[in-house]
Amino acid sequence: MNSRNLLSASFALTIVWDLRRTLCPMLLAAAFVIGPCQPGLAQYEALDLGPEEPAAPALPAGGGTLFQNVRIFDGKNTALSAPSSVLVRGNTIEQISANPAATEAGAAVRVIDANGRVLMPGLIDAHWHMFLAAVSPAVLVTADPGYLNLLAAREAEATLMRGFTTIRDMGGPVFGLKRAIDEGVTVGPRIYPSGAMISQTSGHGDFRSHYEVPRALGGPLSQSELSGVAAIADSPDEVRLRAREQLRHGASQIKLMGGGGVSSPHNPIESIQFTEAELHAAVEAAENWGTYVAVHAYTPAAIRQAIAAGAKCIEHGQLIDEPTAKLLADKGIWWSLQPLTYDADVFARMSPVSQKKALEVFAGTENAYKLAKKYGVKTAWGADILGDAGAASRQGQYLAMMVRWYTPAEALKMATADNGELMALSGFINPYPGKLGVVEAGALADLLLVDGNPLDDINLVANPEKNFVVIMKDGRIYKNTLSN
Ligand SMILES: [Zn+2]
Repeated sequence: MNSRNLLSASFALTIVWDLRRTLCPMLLAAAFVIGPCQPGLAQYEALDLGPEEPAAPALPAGGGTLFQNVRIFDGKNTALSAPSSVLVRGNTIEQISANPAATEAGAAVRVIDANGRVLMPGLIDAHWHMFLAAVSPAVLVTADPGYLNLLAAREAEATLMRGFTTIRDMGGPVFGLKRAIDEGVTVGPRIYPSGAMISQTSGHGDFRSHYEVPRALGGPLSQSELSGVAAIADSPDEVRLRAREQLRHGASQIKLMGGGGVSSPHNPIESIQFTEAELHAAVEAAENWGTYVAVHAYTPAAIRQAIAAGAKCIEHGQLIDEPTAKLLADKGIWWSLQPLTYDADVFARMSPVSQKKALEVFAGTENAYKLAKKYGVKTAWGADILGDAGAASRQGQYLAMMVRWYTPAEALKMATADNGELMALSGFINPYPGKLGVVEAGALADLLLVDGNPLDDINLVANPEKNFVVIMKDGRIYKNTLSN
């Protein structure tokens, strides 16, 4: 079983925030509170500081790329196409031709002779933490925020180089990183950000140390809130405020902690978090902005409360029962499920309390996928790695291991066309309007050229450095190891 070092938010954050308890509060404050030196105004005079003006490099005028002689996995069909050619113009797939040797008369078109290789949509991870995935817990709680952002940028580039052209970020301060990527300042995937994970007091996202409780009503934010990782809210009004703040920053969906987590020491796995009214306040705020709420929940009771409140996506859900799985299917609610399975290394580092909860969740994974398949629930795939650079580097392996439950075509469809559909649930605030996760005319040009057929051998996606010979995002090529 290929599941080494698989960490979920549920596991890793305990390590992070427990460490904080042992450190001096003053040191932590210094590490988390951003206090940049303010240069004199004169230094800025030559700069364009307009905050709404992106610095994205222009695409070559009329330019494009012609992939000749490709067999296409389009994100949906279980079989490859006959040899074809695909023309990308600007950031869009303009034309797919049944003629593998199609030529393009227009100027500035780069021709890639793929020699029968497989062209597929860029991968999408529906539960990722771009800021938190690869940074060690000790560094996360002690380092300068600027340094942490640079580490996140490095990891963003690595993520794209693993073939993930889009990620849905399910918690963490990624708004600045997303902007820098979109503007071409740094390299990385498209990011659908949630911003801070919203949690009740003592909920799964309450990372405060004991010295930070109780909080004064109207008092200052805790360190985990200042850092943008979490937002603590009690009462519908507070939830509404925190949800609206994330939307103001550019969140494309809202993430709430609706039930117990494995690692968090202050909440039982069986706990139901928030009330329906609290969850519904976030749902209203999100829906008024055209988007939706995703809720972390493992148990049937927590999942049902989230559904009743109007959540459109359930995160995890490993402890679901059969009637609740059927309810997800009947209501067309997304199930964002991760292949969490037993891992000796991770398990050894857990507290006894967490170990007990983890065993329940691991055991539930098998049943969860079985029920997701049985009832045809709309299922999204995500890796959900936190605090472990090694595990983050194996992101593709967590997709490849899905063949334990699905065919390679089903697993790849989940990580492309299906996840693309989930991204579009962000409605009129979708930061990347256009079709994602498919190879079809008019779709956004996020493409991988694969040396081999992943429908035969899904393990190809677990070794992207070797097997992804071209990586294109938004019509731009970020990797091309072919000599032509
Ligand atoms: Zn997570």
